[in-house]
Amino acid sequence: MNIIKIGNPILRIKSSNVEDFEFLKLVILEMKELMYKSDGVGLAAPQCGINQNFFLMDPKPNSRYPNADMGSFQVIVNPKIILFSDELEIGFEGCLSVPNVNGRVERFCWLEALYQDENGVFHQKKFSGFEARVFQHEFDHLQGVFYIDRVKNISDLVCF
Ligand SMILES: [Zn+2]
Repeated sequence: MNIIKIGNPILRIKSSNVEDFEFLKLVILEMKELMYKSDGVGLAAPQCGINQNFFLMDPKPNSRYPNADMGSFQVIVNPKIILFSDELEIGFEGCLSVPNVNGRVERFCWLEALYQDENGVFHQKKFSGFEARVFQHEFDHLQGVFYIDRVKNISDLVCF
């Protein structure tokens, strides 16, 4: 399993809902390993060539995001955003599918989502801070959207 990079049309497809949770459990093991190996704080299924509505997130500080809040590992399946803040917050993001670029992006400060876990159990939860930012970034991948699509000015992009 490899991380698919921008330019591959797979990343522009709107994903469909997960129905086979046995398949899901198999692939998340491999995706989890890939996410940690790449110093990612989130990884969406389309980035691994799977056009299904799920992503992993573990918004903990690491070398790519040293100032991240402490979060915990979660598998988010078939998510729907049901409520979100009026206020937006600007912050830096990068993406394992868009190498060597960071950008400033506006996101909702918090959101409330309905989703399933890897066992198919439904959850309703409020996400805020860095966790909410990671959630929105990964959720976008399921719609075929990159964070760079949301950058307002080219000057908000930084190459390294
Ligand atoms: Zn990404």
